[in-house]
This record gives sequence, C-alpha cells and structure tokens, in this order.
Amino acid sequence: MTLTKLNNSIIKCKQCKRLVYFREKIAKEKRRQYIKEKYWGKPITGYGDVKAKLLMIGLAPAAHGGNRTGRVFTGDQSSDFLFKCLYEAGISNQPSSIHKNDGLILKNAYLTTALKCVPPGDKPTPEELKTCFYFFQQEINYLKNVKIILALGKIAFDACINFYRQDYEIKNKNYIFSHGITYELPDGKTLVGCYHPSPRNVNTGRIDLNKMVNLFKKAIKISKR
Ligand code: SF4
Repeated sequence: MTLTKLNNSIIKCKQCKRLVYFREKIAKEKRRQYIKEKYWGKPITGYGDVKAKLLMIGLAPAAHGGNRTGRVFTGDQSSDFLFKCLYEAGISNQPSSIHKNDGLILKNAYLTTALKCVPPGDKPTPEELKTCFYFFQQEINYLKNVKIILALGKIAFDACINFYRQDYEIKNKNYIFSHGITYELPDGKTLVGCYHPSPRNVNTGRIDLNKMVNLFKKAIKISKR
C-alpha cells in the first residue's frame, strides 16, 4: 500500500460509530461564522514532507478547524499560533494555515494526529484510540526517516506513549509530560513534550512565541544528531 492509498482508506473510515456521528453532526450544524462553508466532516490525514525527520503529533482534528477544512491544524486559533511559531523556526514556508489550497509547505516535518476524527469534548475513549492507532502505526511505517516525535499537548503525548506500550514492554517506565521534556522511545526515536498551541495556553502566558520557537529549534537540532 502507498501512503496515498493509506490516506484514502483513512478518509473512508467509519469504524468508530460515536465519532462518525459526531464529526458529521458538527459538519451539518456548523459554527455561525462558517455557516456558508461546506465542512469536511470526515477523518483527516497527516500532512507534510514524507522524508521528514521531525514528526509533530496532535491528539485529533479540531471541530471547526481540521474537521471543517480537511487538513490537520488548519483554520482555527491553535493553528494560527502554531504556524507563526513553525514559520519563525524555519519549519514552514508561511506563518499561517488557513485552508487546503493556501500553499503551505512543511520543511523536513510531517504533522498528524493520533486520532483521525474529532472526538466530543476532545476526549476519545481508549477503545477509539486503540482502533485508530492502526492508521498511526501505518503512517510511522511510511515515515522512515523520523527521528523526533514532538507531541503537541499532554493528551497527544500520553496517546503516543500508549501507542508504544502496545508494541513494546515499557509498562514500568513513567513518562511524565512537560514542555521540553525528552524521552528515548524503544524504537530509537526521541519523544519531545510540547505545550499545545491552544488559545488558552497562549492567553494564560503558559506559552509564547519564543518558548515554542526555542523548542522547535531544539527538536531540529536533536534530529540532526
Ligand atoms: S477515529 Fe480513526 S478508526 Fe475511528 S472512525 Fe475515525 S479514522 Fe476510523
């Protein structure tokens, strides 16, 4: 199977009944400001450079971001901030991610989510995550050059650890999330924790442009070792 074929099968997936219902409900009801737009309302796939050393992973598409635009971290406030930072760090060709045809290019980086459909309250069930990990596993198999997995937020970080626990005996090891923390993963990759680029984290001052850019630059440095 090619990555394109994998992505096509992700887009058609309807395995998690609760999530299929939710993603389609949001696409039908819409947010007032996007009422005239046609929402994507399907699973979203990863995006970026398939030869990348840096893999960035979020938990799931946002209800009116990826679930609306059809591209990961596209069209919401989190992506506005994220791409300002990625651009400053030299990882993207532009400081915004607005819609699928906006010319965005990721440089030596790939962006995806652990779960491909938006979950209610941003809280997937363990069963839903487990079902969708199959796709994440396939993606990792295609992204052969990845050395660094940068988890955007604690939930993505924990999802990533749980994903590895499925295949490796790492049950007794504690992986505690914090911004900038790094752990060696059992397959030789490095996992880096990063605060989620959410408006709440920005507005409370937990993160700012400098903190994020510094961490992205650190991740790039590690990937070159
Ligand atoms: S979350 Fe993943 S496994 Fe579940 S329906 Fe969406 S794409 Fe399919």
